[in-house]
Amino acid sequence: MSKLFCPKCGNETGIFYDNVCEQCFIGNKKLIECPRVVYARICPGCGSFFKKGKWLQEGDENEAIVHCVKDNLKLNKEAQDIELELSPKQLDHSRYQVHMEAKAKISGAQINAAQDAQVRINWETCETCSRVSGGYFEGIVQIRADRRIPTADEIKKCLDIAGDVASRAQEKGDRLAFIAKTVELDEGVDLYVGLMKLGKQICRAIIDAFGGRFTESPKLVGQKNGEDLYRITFALRLPEFVRGDIINADGKVIEVQSCGKHVSGIDIETGRRFMENFENLMDVKKLGRRDDAVQAVLVADEGRTIQVLDPETYDTVTLKRPEFLSAEPGDEIKIIKTDKGLYVLP
Ligand SMILES: [Zn+2]
Ligand SMILES: [Zn+2]
Repeated sequence: MSKLFCPKCGNETGIFYDNVCEQCFIGNKKLIECPRVVYARICPGCGSFFKKGKWLQEGDENEAIVHCVKDNLKLNKEAQDIELELSPKQLDHSRYQVHMEAKAKISGAQINAAQDAQVRINWETCETCSRVSGGYFEGIVQIRADRRIPTADEIKKCLDIAGDVASRAQEKGDRLAFIAKTVELDEGVDLYVGLMKLGKQICRAIIDAFGGRFTESPKLVGQKNGEDLYRITFALRLPEFVRGDIINADGKVIEVQSCGKHVSGIDIETGRRFMENFENLMDVKKLGRRDDAVQAVLVADEGRTIQVLDPETYDTVTLKRPEFLSAEPGDEIKIIKTDKGLYVLP
């Protein structure tokens, strides 16, 4: 095998890269280029950093620093199989030293490089953090009930649901999915939400749990950078009837188990299950609540009818015998007095 010599340095070589030896070839190449000093805009509140007009959140401060250096780093375009390692080291509150090591191949020649850069942090509160601290909101969720006042228990559950929905959205990265303010009112509660989308998600989750409906109405509140700025009011209405209500539904007397799009419950005259689309009911009216029921003595069971002693008037009242009744004369049973008369509760 004939000996080859590099025309540039004169050293003996086995392979040529661009007509020179590997050493001379590598000597001409720069694998990485990075300014000695890199400036990073980082939010002290959340650690997100500013990149190309946007605030990005990426892990901790170290990761933000690494990302900023990478953005300023130029890699040789011919390089292949690049291995890059960046090790940040904090110098003081606002400065990091980042050591870079890179390995790659250019036209098959192995090339290594190392460099240091200093990152100087400009601390700057990001848009999201200033919105969060400034009580910014895009929507109001008004939680009310249809033709009644929501119960304290319902309000509490609604607030729990809203809180869960907001934390889930935040975990997914929607940092503005926060509840800026909660205002309790006589007629319900208002939630001020940082993100329109969150308002809708909260309404849907509450309706999933309780039934009801909501409407959205946008309101123009001003302009920002030439664009119209809207706020949305989500008017949520919990259903008129709740579990335990005794209602008249088109002539049937129903103890409600749930009420949303559908009303379901027990027909207390027959003991049978009842289920109907709320919209299909023509005449619906609340007669009372299970809590209003009183104890009364069953005086006689006559097959198709029973006699009950009215605990207030001590009159004996004759009622249709409900199919579910298993009490014997002399026993106490639960009855409820309504505008439609007396009813035995299952
Ligand atoms: Zn050479
Ligand atoms: Zn921030």
